[in-house]
Amino acid sequence: MQVTTLLNDATFAEPAPSALLLLGQGRDLASERGVECTGALPSPSDPDLVDRARAARAALGERAFVLGHHYQRDEVIDFADITGDSFKLAREAAARPEAEFVIFCGVHFMAESADILTSDSQQVVLPDLAAGCSMADMAAIAQVEEAWAVLEDVGVAGETVPVTYMNSSAAIKAFTGRHGGTVCTSSNAQVALRWAFDRANAATGGSDSGKVLFLPDQHLGRNTAVLQLGMSLDDCVVYDPRKPMGGLTEQQLRDARMILWRGHCSVHGRFSERNVTEIRAAVPGVTVLVHPECKHEVVTAADMVGSTEYIIKALDAAAPGSSWAIGTELNLVRRLANAHPDKQVHYLDSTVCFCSTMNRIDLPHLVWAMESLVEGRVVNRIVVDPDDAHWARVALDQMLALPGI
Ligand code: SF4
Repeated sequence: MQVTTLLNDATFAEPAPSALLLLGQGRDLASERGVECTGALPSPSDPDLVDRARAARAALGERAFVLGHHYQRDEVIDFADITGDSFKLAREAAARPEAEFVIFCGVHFMAESADILTSDSQQVVLPDLAAGCSMADMAAIAQVEEAWAVLEDVGVAGETVPVTYMNSSAAIKAFTGRHGGTVCTSSNAQVALRWAFDRANAATGGSDSGKVLFLPDQHLGRNTAVLQLGMSLDDCVVYDPRKPMGGLTEQQLRDARMILWRGHCSVHGRFSERNVTEIRAAVPGVTVLVHPECKHEVVTAADMVGSTEYIIKALDAAAPGSSWAIGTELNLVRRLANAHPDKQVHYLDSTVCFCSTMNRIDLPHLVWAMESLVEGRVVNRIVVDPDDAHWARVALDQMLALPGI
């Protein structure tokens, strides 16, 4: 209460110019997608913020559907009509055509997927345009087109099928669709890769030398190829878009089966083998459960590996009294710990690690977006270029057609 009172002091109503940009305000194109909010962003210390959010949500009623990704802050999740991973949320939005506005509390590529999967009459809103994804940003379409040209020059593009993780821009998904590939999620990467290799091998005339170009997360690609498809680490090469020919020789590209894009998640990439060793020493009998976006050495040191939905189900099914160390985003792990007071739930890293871009969506931005809609202004609408939307949809539909999906 005291903090709230202090922050509501009149001196905070008109902040002095600062060298630092306030969240969601100002413009720093070198470091973020951020743009100014058109209108007054509520102060985070506004004591009426929760009431304003409730009032705006009630006023919008069924005209709006609020999606909350698992990694969102609690203050935002409290207003989500549904929570889930990126693909589940996009499908849920598409299943509610009566919702005129889809307010996506997630990051930019997720809102793009929702725009692709929802009808033309639905408008997708991202409360803060600065909520990007560092992994998705590691694969720009111009770089990927250039890499494909390298594969063509080397003579292996015809036997390569692109597969992109859901965590990529609409332009990258469209590239994949145009080149006969598919999208995958962390839940279905194994099935998607088997399909892609069958297709790539068929293009070679039936040999097993077909290749996959996996975008943009090298760790998910490597972990799936090695641990689930039985490939060796030597079958994988890493294509670095900042180096000529990706930093690879023609022979390396010819010999490779998995061409992994040099991208990673800044959250899951932080976990180390040492974290696993330390938690095992500190908590005897602990089960270490990590996300497949973690490094290969972390995944192999862990006891279990799986997507966010898998992690949630594993904790639901765990025995009372059991101990768990979870290697994924902290907001989710904290909610899991609160939801399972009968189990010991530890965070795998000793230092906190939220997804900083996901956390750009906070209650002030959600209130601003909802109040703007109530006033008849659609703010921060995400619209995918129609041609990209078409080809990205082709790649997404290919994923949905995979066996067992
Ligand atoms: S957790 Fe990683 S992959 Fe997910 S949005 Fe954040 S940076 Fe991107």
